[in-house]
Amino acid sequence: MASGAMEFRAVQLDLARQMETLEYIYGFTDMITRHGFNTLVLYLEARIRTASFPWLPEDESYSPDDIRKIVAHAAAQGIEVVPVVSNLGHGELFLRRPELAHLWELREGVPNRLGADDPGMSFCLSLEESYTFFEAYFSEVAALFPSPWFHVGCDEFFDFACCSLCRQHSKGEAAQTALFVRHINRTHGILKQLGKRIMMWDDMFEHYPSALDSIPTDIVMCPGSMMTPSISHKGILRTANGPTSLHSMRRVASPISWCPGCSTPTTP
Ligand SMILES: [Zn+2]
Repeated sequence: MASGAMEFRAVQLDLARQMETLEYIYGFTDMITRHGFNTLVLYLEARIRTASFPWLPEDESYSPDDIRKIVAHAAAQGIEVVPVVSNLGHGELFLRRPELAHLWELREGVPNRLGADDPGMSFCLSLEESYTFFEAYFSEVAALFPSPWFHVGCDEFFDFACCSLCRQHSKGEAAQTALFVRHINRTHGILKQLGKRIMMWDDMFEHYPSALDSIPTDIVMCPGSMMTPSISHKGILRTANGPTSLHSMRRVASPISWCPGCSTPTTP
């Protein structure tokens, strides 16, 4: 890739689904440097253990010192490292810990929208303790990354507005949109206090398109397109019929970071 072609040239490495050694990450960083990229996006979920989240075993998590080494190795080559920690959807690595299970949206045994067998992966947005936890965790994680960017995920939250507390004030699309908007604004505020500007995945705006009218326009939307365009209940990619979320984002003039789909299977 020609290094002058785009200002922000990033590759994402998913360490949540498969952890890698520091040596592998150094080598991966070296490889993307050779190919003209300037940013490494680390998809982490709960992979960093900190004072506020000390419960993942060492072989399932990175220490703050591990992260400092990764960031230093990257910085020596001019690579900026951006963390991804989702606080709505894909919180499963947090919520499978018994210490945080009380913050799980499906803690009452209510099935989520994908069926009774789906374990779900979202924090309850009606529990103030969910935000107390992320205020503490985000502050610890943000301090490890000099980058001004922080990616907060927020994709695929199908266990949303399911619990008895959330159902009280989230009946219908308008109320659920308001809950989603409140969450984005709170998250934006937390990270702004920490000196960070947020990125997020865009797929859930296909379910709550009017949310785009009520969130800060400095959020960078990352269309999380997968391998092939599809029409599904998950609403992952632009639907083939009707307006796309990309069109909606242009309407509100949000910055967009395009993320072409490229999965790297971990098994041959
Ligand atoms: Zn709830």
